[in-house]
Amino acid sequence: MKDRLERVLKRIESAARKVGRDPKEITLVAVSKTFPASAVREGFSLGLRNFGENRAQELREKAQHLQDLDITWHFIGRIQTNKVKYFLPIVEYVHSVWREEELQEIEKRASKIKKTLKVFIEMNISGEESKAGIRENEIRIFLEKALQYEHIEVVGLMTMAPLVGNPEDVRWVFRRLREIRDKLSKEYPSLKELSMGMSNDFEVAVEEGATFVRIGTAIFGPRK
Ligand SMILES: *Cc1c(COP(=O)(O)O)cnc(C)c1O
Repeated sequence: MKDRLERVLKRIESAARKVGRDPKEITLVAVSKTFPASAVREGFSLGLRNFGENRAQELREKAQHLQDLDITWHFIGRIQTNKVKYFLPIVEYVHSVWREEELQEIEKRASKIKKTLKVFIEMNISGEESKAGIRENEIRIFLEKALQYEHIEVVGLMTMAPLVGNPEDVRWVFRRLREIRDKLSKEYPSLKELSMGMSNDFEVAVEEGATFVRIGTAIFGPRK
């Protein structure tokens, strides 16, 4: 894991430098889904502090074994409203919010424990039917709704690019998300962050302005 992580960090750094960005602007979220708590512990010992999970119960269980570590947890998966209660007390960030009922449930649970969640709105840029996320023509209305909630801080936009052989083929997806962020942030300055880029395509995402990359395989190895 040490070698893999070093390579990932170097690649983030050189992608950032290539476009004149400071690599420190980029938060690496290590996606530990399907890997045991011991893998997270190893990642932590190598310097990782941000970890992402996509299943509520898996996250809760893993976090229970890692309470002695000062980890910042991210929920990055499809949200089932009846399971928000499992991850909400644990996570600082939710990357995948795109339906009103999710906002309502997060607000309800967060207000109960007097916590403010940092939230990314997930967008479907590629237009694939199977993909979660808000379409471009609906983002403004959704954002305005999201901004009304007292215990939700909308920090940015998130997207997942289609899986392709050549990451250059999805550069336009990342560029489009950045353009939408740039436009909206003139009116809504809290909208700063871009969560985009995974093992296959993170360098292109960094070149296009990603401030959070979500990387699993390239750090932990292939999932079963
Ligand atoms: C699994 C997952 C990732 C990481 O994928 P890798 O290809 O293993 O880097 C990133 N984001 C989301 C939302 C995921 O579900």
